[in-house]
Amino acid sequence: MSSDVFMEPDFRETLYTVDKKGRRKWVYATLAEGYFHRRRQIVAYSLIAFYLLMPWVTINGRQGIHFDFPNRKFILFGQQFWATDSYFLFLVFGMLAFSLFFFTAVAGRLWCGWACPETVFLEFVFRPIERWIEGSPAQRKRLDDGPWTAEKIRKKLLKHGLCAVISWVLASSFLAYFIGREPLLQMMSDWPHHNPVPFALTLIFMGVMAFQFGWFREQFCTVLCPYARFQSVLMDSSTLVVGYDVVRGEPRGKLRKAAETPQGDCIDCKMCVRVCPTGIDIRNGVQLECISCTQCIDACDDVMRKVDKPTGLIRYDTEDRLLGKKQLRGLLRPRPFVYGTILLVYAGIFLYAVSTRELTDFQVLRGKGIAPYIALEDGRIANQFQVRVSNKGDEAVAYTFHIEPMDSLQLIIPIVPLKIGPDEMQTVPAFVNFQRESLQAGNLKAVVTIEGSDGFTDSQEVTLLGPDAAGGE
Ligand code: SF4
Ligand code: SF4
Repeated sequence: MSSDVFMEPDFRETLYTVDKKGRRKWVYATLAEGYFHRRRQIVAYSLIAFYLLMPWVTINGRQGIHFDFPNRKFILFGQQFWATDSYFLFLVFGMLAFSLFFFTAVAGRLWCGWACPETVFLEFVFRPIERWIEGSPAQRKRLDDGPWTAEKIRKKLLKHGLCAVISWVLASSFLAYFIGREPLLQMMSDWPHHNPVPFALTLIFMGVMAFQFGWFREQFCTVLCPYARFQSVLMDSSTLVVGYDVVRGEPRGKLRKAAETPQGDCIDCKMCVRVCPTGIDIRNGVQLECISCTQCIDACDDVMRKVDKPTGLIRYDTEDRLLGKKQLRGLLRPRPFVYGTILLVYAGIFLYAVSTRELTDFQVLRGKGIAPYIALEDGRIANQFQVRVSNKGDEAVAYTFHIEPMDSLQLIIPIVPLKIGPDEMQTVPAFVNFQRESLQAGNLKAVVTIEGSDGFTDSQEVTLLGPDAAGGE
């Protein structure tokens, strides 16, 4: 049996939220409080708590998560990464991308329905406030369609005022991820014109949230979100989706005690449509606008219980099974297998890189604008370098240096041992003196070695230059 038999003929050519004249149809979705909604609440409030708390918790003496671009360092769960560790970020983003691909191939738009900030904040923060102030969907519609009475103004002011306060909290937390919590607190206790950029960013962020959660809403998912556009290429007919059991449900019809013709389990109550935040009818089949929020499952299960029929007429299942076909393929079908394998490779490389990561970064650099060599009064040649050492560990470390070959070179660093505290970086000048006769064709290879009191050791080769290299004297 094909599901097309029961579909509205033009459902793929139209948007449910736009009328024939191209005007927006506002969605007044009813809330279905069922099994999945309760679980989504737990996930959503845990994610919100995570988002709000991570800049304020301290792990290993550091801010939980901090993207400190000016100082070129990133802190993830108390672990510090410097700009030189940027390959970790590449690995993290690779893992996130392939996790999304893998979970989409296996379980469809889990991300959209359960974890996307758009869904989490809209459905579990802003809509509950709206319901609390403006009431049921019917009451909200009456309020919106009605004239601007004192009551309407009061309710709208209260709703948007509360949402603005919440947006300000969310925007401030967002800033704390980038500028750090202490500077943020300092700025908040100061006048806005003393910190115009962070203040402007907070206002912009609040404006975006007011626009998105107050007005634009489901249109972001249905017309703007790029993930919604390409997720169909990640899925196949064996992917878990929120879908309607056509075989069991059709032919749909109002509940009758003695129906003259055979009737399916769908009693055409349209509760699944009324609860849908994107306004679609899932009985038409899998659709781009469906964000897998599971509201229609909860609504239909409730209806099924009331009419004494088995639940699961709308459920998480594969498109094949929903259409009555046999399900033969599991995780070993091409898409999940390829995405899962790449994800495992990324995760393996990441774990290896983290477990073998050095906590000291050591570089010997030629200083910009410094002469390549200096002729000393005693006839020797001197080269000047900059030694840069970053201590990414949790303890202060004392570093010493030596140079090879030792018999012909002298390394002078003004401060030895060089003590560097946790999360600190220091750059100090270094001079290498040597006899001119040591040069071969104007240069000389040398190796500078660093040793830390924590057992760290590393070496870097440098090329020493003399008069012959500069054209001869
Ligand atoms: S809620 Fe269930 S019974 Fe009611 S219209 Fe939707 S699918 Fe049919
Ligand atoms: S069809 Fe169901 S799962 Fe999809 S968006 Fe609508 S209510 Fe959510």
